[in-house]
Amino acid sequence: MSTHPLTTMTTLINPGAIPDIAKTVYTGDILQGVPVISHLGVGDLAPGQNHRFFFQGVEMGTGQHWYVPVVVAVGHRPGPCVGLVAGIHGDEVSGINAVQRVMAQLGPGAMAGSVVAVLGVSRPAVEYTRSHWLTAQGGGSQVDMNRVWPGDESGATAATRHAGLLWNRLLINNVDLVIDYHTVTTGSDFTLFLFADLRQPTVRQMAELFPVEQMQNDPGLAGTLETALVEAGIPALTVEIGGPRRFDAVKIARAVEGSLNVLKHYGLIDGPLGRTAAEVGTVYGDALETIRATTGGFLELLVDLRDRVVPGQPVALQRNAFGDVVAEYRSGVTGEVAVVARDAVCEPGSRVMQILYSRDNEPG
Ligand SMILES: [Zn+2]
Repeated sequence: MSTHPLTTMTTLINPGAIPDIAKTVYTGDILQGVPVISHLGVGDLAPGQNHRFFFQGVEMGTGQHWYVPVVVAVGHRPGPCVGLVAGIHGDEVSGINAVQRVMAQLGPGAMAGSVVAVLGVSRPAVEYTRSHWLTAQGGGSQVDMNRVWPGDESGATAATRHAGLLWNRLLINNVDLVIDYHTVTTGSDFTLFLFADLRQPTVRQMAELFPVEQMQNDPGLAGTLETALVEAGIPALTVEIGGPRRFDAVKIARAVEGSLNVLKHYGLIDGPLGRTAAEVGTVYGDALETIRATTGGFLELLVDLRDRVVPGQPVALQRNAFGDVVAEYRSGVTGEVAVVARDAVCEPGSRVMQILYSRDNEPG
């Protein structure tokens, strides 16, 4: 009996067959001198070393794969495995730089446990400095890669399948704790900010080790990597390192300081803790008031990041092409400005500002 080779091939790559293993599987390909893997098992990597890989992600429409750069630092002694994930949104490049800087400070020879650095999840988005995954489907559309986790290897878009591959074959069998690095999207600016579900004791412990400007205690958002991990029992938080498209050196340095604090606290590396949330006076809240444009017009900000605002305070206005004021926006809460639009051209419905506040402090 002969087997048609194409049939055999289809069986081999059946996406429903997810090996339940935590072994490193090399595809045999080498890209730019770096081995390609389709599964990561940190436990079978040589200790005391940094290991570089390209993780084989989803295929493009022509059959070539997207490859995700991964570095795994494996210590000499046992300890937890911490995942550092950057580039789920492609224009949020400061996260990639922050993870590179953390990895540069690790000496695997003197380390316990391991660190898995994922340096640019959403490949087409990173290549084109775009927030969302660009797909050819429907003549060209976009997928927000931070609304599809834990992904699905049999999903309806390449982005969903890509997330499923990373979830099943790179992350879930390895990581004990995860830090997911973001910034705000193109056209806006953000403080150094942290989203964390502080009801989770380990998440709270990790969060308080970050010297961020602002922190929101929130129960999570379906489809984000952070929430999918927390729901899978893996403590995770989301760090927002300011604005998009460029490296924000000051905020990156503080994100790195917080990340190294986490690695020190959990015993992966030695050394005195850097600054923590308590030491820099992090402002906490549990809600963001989002002000959206009610009309079209050029946007003028009357406050900026970190400004304290009170209810009724004017925070922004819009003018039409003749210079007439066509809209004025006021804060509805007592809080601190976290996000502002930087694009002056402002369409109806677009986000003008977000203000971090505490529900407990608001009347009614
Ligand atoms: Zn993001």
